[in-house]
Amino acid sequence: LYNQVQDLKGNIRVYCRVRPVKGQSNKLSSVDHKDDGSITIITPSKYGKEGRKSFTFNKAFGPSASQAEVFADTQPLIRSVLDGYNVCIFAYGQTGSGKTHTMTGPDVITEKTMGVNYRALSDLFMISDQRKDTISYDISVQMIEIYNEQVRDLLVADGVNKRYPFYYMLVSQNGLNVPDANLVPVKSSSDVISLMNLGQKNRAVGSTAMNDRSSRSHSCLTVHVQGKNLSSGTLLRGCMHLVDLAGSERVEKTEAVGERLKEAQHINKSLSALGDVISSLAQKNAHVPYRNSKLTQLLQDSLGGQAKTLMFVHIAPEHDAIGETISTLKFAERVSSV
Ligand code: ADP
Ligand code: MG
Repeated sequence: LYNQVQDLKGNIRVYCRVRPVKGQSNKLSSVDHKDDGSITIITPSKYGKEGRKSFTFNKAFGPSASQAEVFADTQPLIRSVLDGYNVCIFAYGQTGSGKTHTMTGPDVITEKTMGVNYRALSDLFMISDQRKDTISYDISVQMIEIYNEQVRDLLVADGVNKRYPFYYMLVSQNGLNVPDANLVPVKSSSDVISLMNLGQKNRAVGSTAMNDRSSRSHSCLTVHVQGKNLSSGTLLRGCMHLVDLAGSERVEKTEAVGERLKEAQHINKSLSALGDVISSLAQKNAHVPYRNSKLTQLLQDSLGGQAKTLMFVHIAPEHDAIGETISTLKFAERVSSV
C-alpha cells in the first residue's frame, strides 16, 4: 500500500529548500515560499522594474524548516528501498546554498542537525530490524566521488589516494551495474557513520583551502540492500544513491582558465546531462540520454523505470544570488513533472 500511495505521486519529485539569510546580515531576502510548494522570487528594482516570478514544486521548505521536517517528506522513499525499489536522492544548487547541510548536516552534527544521509541509514536499520522475523536484510555501502569525469573510491582505508584516478569500470553487483569501488557490509548506523567519516576524510585529501574540491565534485553514498524472505526464500534487492552534487554556479569567463575552466566544463556537462535525463524521464520520452556523463551512466539503473527520484533544489535567499537562484529554479522546473 505504501508504494501504491507513493506511485500515485509519480516517480520524480522536486523539493525546494531556501537557506536562512547568513549571519546578522542586513541583506534582504528575495525569496518568498508557500506551503503549497510555490516559491516566489522578488527581483529588486535595481535590476530594472521590480518583478515577481513564481515556481511550483512538490514541496517548498522555507529557511526555518528543520532537518527533521525535511526528512519527514523523504522517509517514504527509504521504506521503498527495503521493498526492493531503487532510489536516487540529489542535492542541487550553487555553492553555499545548503546542499551539504541537507545531505550531511552542519560542521557540528548532532541528533537534531544531522542530515538526510544519517537519518536515511538509521531508518533503514530500524525498519529492517522491525522486519527481522520475516525478512533478513544485508546492507552494504559504497562511497565515491566524481571529479572531472573520473570516479574515485572514497572508502579506501589507508587514506592514500592510490586508486585515484582510476578509470571508470562497472561491475555487476546484485544485478545492478556499480562502480568497481569498495563495497563494505554494514550492520548498524554507527558502522555507516565511521565509513562516512572515512569518506569525508579521503575527500579532503588533495584539496586545500584555496582549492575546495568538494564544491566541484559530486559525491555519492550508495546503499545496497538485499532482503531474503525467511519463509519463501525469495530475494529482493534495492539500492539508494545519496548524491551531493557539485556547485551549479556559472563560472565567470574571465576567471575560468586552465584547471578551473576544465572543472567548470565538466560540471556543466554533467549537471546538464543529469537535467536532460530527469526531464526526459518526467516527460516519458522513449529515448533517455544516459550516456552523456559519468554520473548518469553510473546511476542509469536507478533512474527511470520503477526507480524513484528526489531532487532537493537549494537556493540562497540573498538578493545578490538572484541570478543563480533563477537559473537553479529554471533547472528545477525543467526536471519536475508537476
Ligand atoms: P553547499 O554544500 O551547497 O555548498 P552548505 O551546506 O555548506 O552549502 O551551506 C553553507 C552554509 O550555510 C553552511 O555553514 C551551512 O551550515 C549553512 N546552512 C545551509 N543551509 C542551512 C539551513 N537550512 N539552516 C541553517 N544553516 C544552513
Ligand atoms: Mg557542500
